[in-house]
Amino acid sequence: MITDAPPRNANHREGFAESDRIKTLDLPQDGSLLAISQSIESAMRTGTTADVRRACAEFVTISSDFYKVPACGIRVLAARPLRVREHWATELFGDYNPSSMLIRVWMKTAVRKEITSFGTFLSTLCHEFCHHLDYHKFGFADSWHTRGFYERAATLYHNARGTPPKKLFWVAVPGGRWRIDWPRTNRVADRQMKDIKATSVARRSELNDDRKNQECLFQLQIFRERTLTFP
Ligand SMILES: [Zn+2]
Repeated sequence: MITDAPPRNANHREGFAESDRIKTLDLPQDGSLLAISQSIESAMRTGTTADVRRACAEFVTISSDFYKVPACGIRVLAARPLRVREHWATELFGDYNPSSMLIRVWMKTAVRKEITSFGTFLSTLCHEFCHHLDYHKFGFADSWHTRGFYERAATLYHNARGTPPKKLFWVAVPGGRWRIDWPRTNRVADRQMKDIKATSVARRSELNDDRKNQECLFQLQIFRERTLTFP
């Protein structure tokens, strides 16, 4: 993942810098996006394209309501269209048209016609929806791929997937652009995950110790009562 270069147009530089700065996004805390993403996953596994589309439409409706932005349209295509029109923010697995407020996501890669994995599909949907938010929530004149943009898209994705967010590490590349340092990002995330697991194992054994102590005290109490009642 690599960011766009800062815009040449001076009028856009402030918006670009702001987009780069905003790294978080309010998130629904009721698990609604997780429930919908699970229905997208099962529709991708066993349903029809129409089922996937319905689940995606629910995703954009619920998200648009949450962010108080006009609902955008969604189209789920079997494969990437051969001719991708101009003025669309075009990605490998989806695009967003700001003038028609339409997201398109495809379930097969363009070249090899391989089925897109659920993780990639959901991440594309979140990515395209963040383009929609850039125009309608943040009011940017354009929707740039800044570090902030990728961070916001990742935040939304992890909320919808029910996975812990990763801290992203960036490396500067020529031309004022940035790319994600995936090895470092994944290394730190793995270490955090191990720490969380170790803490929860330690906590569990502490609980076990507590329970053992309580049982001992209980037995002691019974012993005392018995010895008092039957000296
Ligand atoms: Zn994009």
